[in-house]
Amino acid sequence: MTDADAPAPSPAADEVEVDVVVLGVGPGGETVAGLAGKAGLDVVAVEENLVGGECPFYGCVPSKLMISGARHAAEGAPDWAHVVRRIREDATHDWSDGPFVERLEKHGGRVVRGRGRLVGPRRVRVGETTYVARRGVVLNVGTRPAVPPVDGLAGTPYWTNRDVVAITDLPASVVVVGGGPIGAELSQVFARFGVTTTLVDVAERLLPKDEPEAATVLGDALAADGVRLVLGQALERVSYTDGHFSVTVGAETLTSEKLLVAAGRTLQLDDLGLETVGVPTDGPLEVDDHLRVTAAADGGLWAVGDITGKGAFTHVSNYQARVAVRDLLGEDGPWADYRAVTRVTYTEPEVAAVGLTEQQARDAGLDVAVATGDLGARGWLDEAAGVMKLVADTEAGVLVGATVAGPTAGEVLGLLAVAVHARTPIEVLRTMHFAYPTYHRAIETVLWRLPH
Ligand SMILES: Cc1cc2nc3c(=O)[nH]c(=O)nc-3n(C[C@H](O)[C@H](O)[C@H](O)COP(=O)(O)OP(=O)(O)OC[C@H]3O[C@@H](n4cnc5c(N)ncnc54)[C@H](O)[C@@H]3O)c2cc1C
Repeated sequence: MTDADAPAPSPAADEVEVDVVVLGVGPGGETVAGLAGKAGLDVVAVEENLVGGECPFYGCVPSKLMISGARHAAEGAPDWAHVVRRIREDATHDWSDGPFVERLEKHGGRVVRGRGRLVGPRRVRVGETTYVARRGVVLNVGTRPAVPPVDGLAGTPYWTNRDVVAITDLPASVVVVGGGPIGAELSQVFARFGVTTTLVDVAERLLPKDEPEAATVLGDALAADGVRLVLGQALERVSYTDGHFSVTVGAETLTSEKLLVAAGRTLQLDDLGLETVGVPTDGPLEVDDHLRVTAAADGGLWAVGDITGKGAFTHVSNYQARVAVRDLLGEDGPWADYRAVTRVTYTEPEVAAVGLTEQQARDAGLDVAVATGDLGARGWLDEAAGVMKLVADTEAGVLVGATVAGPTAGEVLGLLAVAVHARTPIEVLRTMHFAYPTYHRAIETVLWRLPH
């Protein structure tokens, strides 16, 4: 008998029996509810804020609209009002999730508004009602901005991503805390719109999870856009008086009109009732390749999205959702595989990566070879700086990771993602045609720099 077939407790007066409860409706939750609903299951999707989650309302979509506006600004046509309009009217519908709810309901799901909490295996309480899930509960509660415990920061009107996507006026100056993808992207946006921008991070370099060669390219690009980088310095203290922040970083005190905290994310696992099903909350939820939460007493609990720690990206959340639904429907795989997770930082130049970095491959004990190169003829023609780095498992003769920093790097990455995903032999890749003079043609040069 599978978990999905296990008998559920009989419902009491304030209990409603359904097939599946989706708790938290980010991108993955929406996909689970939609696919399970389409398959004929009785699905309840519980959301305390906006159906659709962080990506469409506070994350990917508004930030990419800002980036698109910043590109035009760099070309001499800054129009912040246009960016504000597109975010408000076209993307977020003034932060209303009507279209998302409609889509979900069209697929047969039912939205329940409110904060949900597990109250035992397969049981989720929302207000006075307990939903009892015959097949299971799928958690997709996501993350919120992490706020570092910096002296003086709490109580100041600092921004996080949730505030910055809704601003109508640009400040004269901003300090951005965090040199990861979000901090780097938004710093470039501000600088390109003429805001005096300083990015600070305790790490010695930008994008600490990516290849150092790519971080160097990005650092040069941000500096060229006018972003001042203060790296390798701890944020010591923050204060706010007379409409200005004072930010002490190492031995220096920076002054700015605004402060944006983009210093990582906190898993929203607190007060979720995970203790009622025996699941620890001290880190990402451990899931198996069916997306079942391995520690859950009596099974019946799946998790998708950022809370699984497999890559905090919309596409990972959606990928996992499809896998979890297969399992809920009793289908036979394919199950989750994270060998070729892709990620892109949408700065200009973009930084795109798939699979393992060199360091990760070495830590995994692989027989590693790496090769790097520039963007080849197209880079020279376009006067575009960039780098490509390939990480090979020489024993297996395949690529296990790749990074591209350069124009349209996210698109160039597609080819490399196929190679890593399908474990295409490097020998085969070397026999391909690479159109001249494309950016992806640089792959050929770098492939030949690997041992052969
Ligand atoms: C500024 C920014 C830019 C980003 N850009 C990109 C990008 O370009 N590409 C990309 O792939 N990813 C990007 N991301 C990451 C992306 O937004 C997330 O990975 C994505 O939203 C998937 O998250 P999720 O599925 O885990 O759930 P989330 O989107 O975090 O949604 C979780 C939902 O659960 C709800 N919830 C939580 N607890 C409860 C509860 N107890 N009861 C009821 N509801 C609850 C929340 O209200 C929320 O709506 C970006 C993130 C940020 C912040």
